[in-house]
Amino acid sequence: MSAHLRNDDAAADVERNDEAAADVDVAKRVEAMLRHEGLNLKGSSDTQAWASPSEFWQDASYRKTWYTKAIAYWENNEEVPTTVDGVLGGFASLDAPDVRASRRFLGEARKAAGQSGAFAAADVAAGIGRVTKHVLLPFGAASVDVLEPARTLREAACAFVDAQDTVEGVEVGGSAAKCRFLAAPMQDWAPPSQKYDVIWAQWCVGHLTDSHFLRFLRRCRTALKPGGIVVIKDNCGESSSTDDCFEVDDADRSICRGRAYLEALLALSGAELLCTALQPVAGEDAFPADIYPVRSYALRWVDDGVT
Ligand code: SAH
Repeated sequence: MSAHLRNDDAAADVERNDEAAADVDVAKRVEAMLRHEGLNLKGSSDTQAWASPSEFWQDASYRKTWYTKAIAYWENNEEVPTTVDGVLGGFASLDAPDVRASRRFLGEARKAAGQSGAFAAADVAAGIGRVTKHVLLPFGAASVDVLEPARTLREAACAFVDAQDTVEGVEVGGSAAKCRFLAAPMQDWAPPSQKYDVIWAQWCVGHLTDSHFLRFLRRCRTALKPGGIVVIKDNCGESSSTDDCFEVDDADRSICRGRAYLEALLALSGAELLCTALQPVAGEDAFPADIYPVRSYALRWVDDGVT
């Protein structure tokens, strides 16, 4: 029995080492790309510092609990109530400007991709379905796969999406029947091919390790219908002082990649950048100056026969 257990442990160790090697490999490719631009990415959390992404992704103390601690954080009702304020980390006031800018960006991106009319969407790491309810459904989504691994949030999502409300001048709610609420975590999501026109992933890709991020994008690529797009909207450093940094959040186990780091990973995915926009920092859609800048990317892949 104990020998059997040891074998299982050994198998798990091998798997963990393979995963670490895959992340280090991707991180080293990012580092090589950015070295040409004179950037050396350094990282820190509240308790530790790393000289490079590849050093960070070898850190067993983070790797071992990377996904389990994240889900434990998001499922903790005291830390994360199942409300807009909860999923926005206490920043409910960001919802209105975020929604206005996202509606605009979705319209521009779909137009640039040649899309019009009703569309099939996936809302990845959806929390309680804030983006589904406030952005995707009112803008013509005929169906939305709402993906959320944290049980507490997923169980609250159907009632939240269905509750009628008016958000930023648009009537929302009453359309949970168009949604499927699925538990899939991004790193395990295995979508069918050619299912979606729009895959929206907001404030979540920092939960993925580098190699899982690339594999996630590859699966998104095959899950898109011809002309389909992936939208990534996330925190990212923008200035010269933050572009060569990454920050690791010890509480929710996520990595905030600076703009250069994030864009290098997008480039490695082979994606074409259809359009990008910074969440305004002035005017009525502005986010406060003391939070991370937030940027949206619309990605597509030219049809090169990859399925
Ligand atoms: N996109 C939503 C929620 C953002 S909060 C919105 O903009 O309102 C971040 C979300 O990511 C949480 O719902 C959390 O449960 C989810 N998450 C964390 N790790 C994840 C993973 N590995 N796969 C999918 N979702 C994850």
